[in-house]
Amino acid sequence: MYKTSYYDYFKCIGSKCPNSCCVGWDIDLDINTFQKYRDLQDSNIYKCISVNQKPTYDKFAKIKKVEDQRCSFLDKDNLCNIQKKYSEKLLSPTCSNFPRRKVDFGSKQLSSCLLSCPEISRIYFADNEQFKIVDNEKKLVGTNLKIIPDEFRNNLYAVSGERIFNFFYKLYNSNDISLEKCLTITNQIINEFSIKKIKPHKLNEVFEYVKSFFLNKKIEKKIDTELQLEFLKKFFRCFQKKKINNNLSQLINKLHTDCFLNTDIKKIKLLYEKNKLHNFNKFILKHPNIFKKFFIHEFFGKAQLLTNEDIDSKDGFYLIFFIALVSKLILILNTLHKDQIVVEDFIEVISLISRYYGGKDNLDTEEKELVYKDNKTFENLFDLFFG
Ligand code: SF4
Repeated sequence: MYKTSYYDYFKCIGSKCPNSCCVGWDIDLDINTFQKYRDLQDSNIYKCISVNQKPTYDKFAKIKKVEDQRCSFLDKDNLCNIQKKYSEKLLSPTCSNFPRRKVDFGSKQLSSCLLSCPEISRIYFADNEQFKIVDNEKKLVGTNLKIIPDEFRNNLYAVSGERIFNFFYKLYNSNDISLEKCLTITNQIINEFSIKKIKPHKLNEVFEYVKSFFLNKKIEKKIDTELQLEFLKKFFRCFQKKKINNNLSQLINKLHTDCFLNTDIKKIKLLYEKNKLHNFNKFILKHPNIFKKFFIHEFFGKAQLLTNEDIDSKDGFYLIFFIALVSKLILILNTLHKDQIVVEDFIEVISLISRYYGGKDNLDTEEKELVYKDNKTFENLFDLFFG
């Protein structure tokens, strides 16, 4: 098994969590957990679950939600009644596994955690360390990960995906390659890979060519605050239509009201641009690899994007880029009246956005329309991100 270096150090902070995973989500119970709860003969537990209309082995029942979308097992101190009254062993696999995620290649697995858990985002982003992968013995592994086991190595697409991941692992961990270059190179490799289905033995040549081409190319970026604010306004409207009630929707509603409704938009634009050019840039100087860490973490956690031919690797990359984009712009808008942007501000936003978008495979149609324009999705995302 390969895992992120922080994997074994995670500990749920329970009642201290600013965005508990026991609020806002439907929590499924598999048939075994359902039977265990039924066998407890505890009416306080049994009344909190309902059998699904079309029960399956994994999704046999659900834990009911109460006011404010809270899991009905959650007490007033945000502690789980099942755990408190009985044992951790009685938690459903959904509850006990969260926030861990696994990409399963049979005899090999890649384990990481979801950044939607604020504590994971905190332990991962709080320092300026690079993204690191360790093996079962917690030994650091280099950039030649063999993630496709022997029994599947005749699948050339999967083996190529493995090589691409290793290339990205090295690229995003290079201190002297900027995020702009990393993203442009990633986009080119993913494009070449999805169009031409390059054979594994040809990949090194392609990597070297693409890398040296873009490292020597000047990448144009132009500041465009208006474009970013226009995007945010449309994104907020799009999100509000979903009628979701969670911490992210509350933040979006607040920012929408404060910045776009009955406000002097010129003043907001000035404040936003000042915050972006001054505080945000200062924050990036202090944490130069923070977004690179985000991207490579997501490539590892969703390695199937590169190794599974049935998944559109471009769509997967755009979704990851979309999460980074929305997080960056909301971070700037959410700190307009602060003296400085600190890593805790970043952690708050990236975990909130990841809570909604991190588990998705795709953006919905309306969200896609915000960026998937004129067959230039990457360019649109890039201009918005660096604008
Ligand atoms: S989101 Fe993470 S830290 Fe918060 S309650 Fe869930 S597992 Fe614990």
